[in-house]
Amino acid sequence: MRLDKLLANTGHGSRKEVKNLLKRKKVSVNRTIVRDGSLHVDPSTDIIQVGDYTVHYQEFIYLMMNKPPGYVSATVDDKDKTVIDLLAENYQHFEPFPVGRLDKDTEGLLLLTNDGELGHKLTSPKKDIEKVYYARIDGCVTNEDVKQFAGGILLEDGYQTKSAKLRILTAGAVSEIEVTISEGKYHQVKRMFAAVGKRVSYLKRIKMGQLLLDPTLDNGYYRELTEKELTSIL
Ligand code: URA
Repeated sequence: MRLDKLLANTGHGSRKEVKNLLKRKKVSVNRTIVRDGSLHVDPSTDIIQVGDYTVHYQEFIYLMMNKPPGYVSATVDDKDKTVIDLLAENYQHFEPFPVGRLDKDTEGLLLLTNDGELGHKLTSPKKDIEKVYYARIDGCVTNEDVKQFAGGILLEDGYQTKSAKLRILTAGAVSEIEVTISEGKYHQVKRMFAAVGKRVSYLKRIKMGQLLLDPTLDNGYYRELTEKELTSIL
């Protein structure tokens, strides 16, 4: 990979700052000063140093984000801000992508990574990864709805969903629920409720596989996964 990209990816500043480091002869590859950021290096065999510090390269990045409303789960978009826009530049250099999509108005747990294999594994329909959502629903959610969700819901386009676990937290004019689904169809939770005549007014993902949303992460904030969290989803 390019030396300037490697330096940016390993937290040595923005592209401009990296250029500056190179210009100031602070960077060496195999003990030789290098000023050309386009030089191709192999981080597994080349010794790359900034001053006296040896750079340790990390290929993959795994971030947990509490997605805020108003951002789309994509890497680029013509008109909306994307979840990638929320990341600091030293993370953007890894070129992460969101694993699965949350609607623009949906909040909560979003995994961002540049590990394509893991992304594929977590979104593959064959894997049945469970996702848990907290939602507020206009109207009173009933035990009949719980039964219907358990049997699978026939959506308006004729698709029959798999069985889903619906748990009523509070029932009233506005109900609070938790729902667990193992698929990821477009607008799935909203469409499942629409099929039983109810509207989702607020939706937040709180769990994906074994990965729980860190309750200390405010909307729009993110952090790297811990080793333990990472091994739980690999
Ligand atoms: N189901 C939805 O309806 N929207 C989401 O963002 C996620 C699941």
